[in-house]
Amino acid sequence: MTTIQHWINGSPTQGSAANTQPVFNPATGAEQAQVVLGGTADVDTAVAAASAAFETWSESSLSQRTQVMFAFRQLLVEHEEELGRIISAEHGKTVDDARGEITRGREVVEFACGLGDVLKGSFSDQVSRGVDVHNFRQPLGVVAGITPFNFPAMVPLWMHPIAIATGNTFILKPSERDPSAANFVAELYQKAGLPDSVFNVVHGGKPAVDAILTHPGIEAVSFVGSTPIAKYVHETATAHGKRVQALGGAKNHAVVLPDADLEFAANHITAGAYGSAGERCMAVSVAIAVGDAADKLVEILQRKAREVKVGPGDQPGTDMGPLVTKTAQERVENAVGGAATQGATVVVDGRGLKIDGHEDGFFTGPSLLDHVTTDMDAYKEELFGPVLAVIRTDSLDHAIDLINANPYGNGTALFTASGEAARRFQRTVKVGMIGINVPVPVPMSYYSFGGWKDSLIGDSPIHGPEGIRFYTRPKVVTTRWPQPAQQVNAGFNFPTST
Ligand code: NAD
Repeated sequence: MTTIQHWINGSPTQGSAANTQPVFNPATGAEQAQVVLGGTADVDTAVAAASAAFETWSESSLSQRTQVMFAFRQLLVEHEEELGRIISAEHGKTVDDARGEITRGREVVEFACGLGDVLKGSFSDQVSRGVDVHNFRQPLGVVAGITPFNFPAMVPLWMHPIAIATGNTFILKPSERDPSAANFVAELYQKAGLPDSVFNVVHGGKPAVDAILTHPGIEAVSFVGSTPIAKYVHETATAHGKRVQALGGAKNHAVVLPDADLEFAANHITAGAYGSAGERCMAVSVAIAVGDAADKLVEILQRKAREVKVGPGDQPGTDMGPLVTKTAQERVENAVGGAATQGATVVVDGRGLKIDGHEDGFFTGPSLLDHVTTDMDAYKEELFGPVLAVIRTDSLDHAIDLINANPYGNGTALFTASGEAARRFQRTVKVGMIGINVPVPVPMSYYSFGGWKDSLIGDSPIHGPEGIRFYTRPKVVTTRWPQPAQQVNAGFNFPTST
């Protein structure tokens, strides 16, 4: 049985771990490895290594950092299939889907490759006679990322390329459910020429997280995960004087107007709902069918849900793999049962699905619920599984009211042929990322990613320009180089420019 170790100071280490936790293959239900569970001592070791590395890495030239990022990007390209298989084996998603997350994460590395440009300061000549002003940004120090299970490569890649390119050193605490991708990425960084201890991995659960949140040697914490933990991380780490970005959970609505191409909308909503078994923070979990769109939309959604091929993620032709754990499978299936009890129509029932040869895998099929109302648990809770709830309503304005009343505000989509409706929707909906005829509107890496309301705690979205801002702090320098003969009288009044 493999033991997945921390990665500190450029090599795997068992650390102080007295405890380990099993890592499963969700497609077979079998335990395939153990991961060490770190605590205060391991975080101390990682912070000491990262602090020492910061002394030199923060002084490295932009050229050196750019070269490392380019080399790292190339290695991500060359090892995409291998990393995709590692992710699939622990998460359950299909290898192609895992390759997709690597590609989207790699785009952040590409953004970081342009650090020479994005780190440029500005200069103002002659703000006063003989006085100039310029600004520049400097790294924070040791920063940490705490990440969820659902994107074991992409979500950390939202963080560490920008943190490292801007001169920080980084400690990643990945999800204990699919920890191997983090160590693989650490090896790629090493091959890319990143000095040891600039990127470190500490595995574990709450004790490792708590040690990070309270460690005086860590300047900033990036968190992505569920809303209750995002709130906890934000409160605890800010109380310990850290800069925090904390992205939380989601309940994403796709609104379909009667003028939309319903076949197109249903196609994209199906992929957005059941792709990665619904375990995406940008998954479409609610379809709001407006007016006449409803009956036809549900009919097509039903057909498409039945066509989804469920199977092991490493089997070619699979659309959707298993859920990540047995607990997740049971939670999702209970939610479908609960929705039926509360009055929803179960149009497609994914419960009890068995895959030949994988009878112990954590599979559940796509479920489609119709006539869902906002008081039902299946609507109120983030199910994080392959369940699509359809709510019927009579107008776009009512659909917008419904979305705005939901505590989450991560992503949303509108399917329509009307520019006027699209404009009204995007201007009034209280959601951070909006798709117009695009179901999963994940921003490109040169924009920033983040929701509103309970989907983002605090004020900092992640990657893109916000990432640069988050991992650096500004300095403004006011300069005067007087000529030796020049007499400058120092005044006692507050300085103003002339
Ligand atoms: P999670 O909140 O359970 O775990 C996230 C991280 O927090 C993990 O590293 C975990 O070890 C740690 N953690 C868990 N419980 C903790 C505790 N009690 N104290 C301290 N640390 C703890 O989330 P998950 O189940 O791994 O991931 C799914 C969630 O992440 C969903 O809610 C999903 O919407 C959200 N998510 C959000 C985004 C986004 O961009 N907003 C992206 C991906 C996932």
